[in-house]
Amino acid sequence: MIPDISLNDGNTIPQLGYGVFQIPPEETADAVQRALAIGYRHIDTAEMYRNEAGVRDGIAASGLDRDDVFITSKLNNGYHAPDDARRAFEETLRALGTDHVDLFLIHWPLPTLYDGDYPATWKVLEAFKADGRARSIGVSNFEVDHLERLAAECDVVPAVNQIELHPYLLNDAVHSYGREHGIATEAWSPIAQGGVLGDPVITEIAEKLDRTPAQVVLRWHIERGNIVFPKSATPARMEENFALFDFELEPGDDAAIAGLDRGEDGRTGPNPGVMDYVPS
Ligand code: NDP
Repeated sequence: MIPDISLNDGNTIPQLGYGVFQIPPEETADAVQRALAIGYRHIDTAEMYRNEAGVRDGIAASGLDRDDVFITSKLNNGYHAPDDARRAFEETLRALGTDHVDLFLIHWPLPTLYDGDYPATWKVLEAFKADGRARSIGVSNFEVDHLERLAAECDVVPAVNQIELHPYLLNDAVHSYGREHGIATEAWSPIAQGGVLGDPVITEIAEKLDRTPAQVVLRWHIERGNIVFPKSATPARMEENFALFDFELEPGDDAAIAGLDRGEDGRTGPNPGVMDYVPS
């Protein structure tokens, strides 16, 4: 029911998943168990979210096999130095209770920290892929210049780039670079944390199609080929966000939604070029 997206390394990823950013650690197992019961088979977590162990417990409680669930995690910002990255990855596997993740990402490029040497960090992820502990590797919040540097200095092309992308921030330059170089785009904050749902362009389309605004925006991502993993801790919304495959947008809807782009003004999160937050 959920389409798979083919990655440049021969692996596939379910196009729709469940994101657990801002779900408190003690509530994560229940939320993940519920998501899996609804039918989600792709969980997006990160060391930074402090809830990898909850993801493990939710999967265990679901009764599903580990291999039935696609798990993504990410390298936290304090661990870019190669030895730290290796230790952090082992800790991520331990917290997740697994011997491999399906996808491991550098969470932020941090070009102003670590002498801007994110290629050195990427080479450590290349080794995780080579030894099989990360089936696929990718990046998050990488801009075009960051991707160009990896292309010039490293061997493996990232399988994905997970970037902020929603109707108010199309992030076109980064998205196009990915399309041209075989890097799949994952859209984080796909509904701008709810910020686009009241837009009249969206609500009109929702009314016309007899769907909710969130379904319209998520369906728009799906039709554009983006990988999405909306976060909701609300059971009814988790169901709603999963029900995207029994309707389609109509001609003109895609362009109307894309017309909402505000460029940089639409960004809700930090700009990756200057982002230097390292959690303590
Ligand atoms: P989303 O765009 O997924 O929005 C989440 C917010 O929208 C929550 O407040 C949720 O409320 C609300 N919401 C969800 N569904 C609905 C609905 N159907 N109707 C109305 N409101 C709804 O934002 P996120 O920032 O959480 O992004 C999704 C995922 O992307 C994250 O969980 C994480 O996995 C990833 N991410 C990655 C980042 C990165 O740097 N790589 C940065 C940020 C996110 P409620 O929970 O109360 O229902």
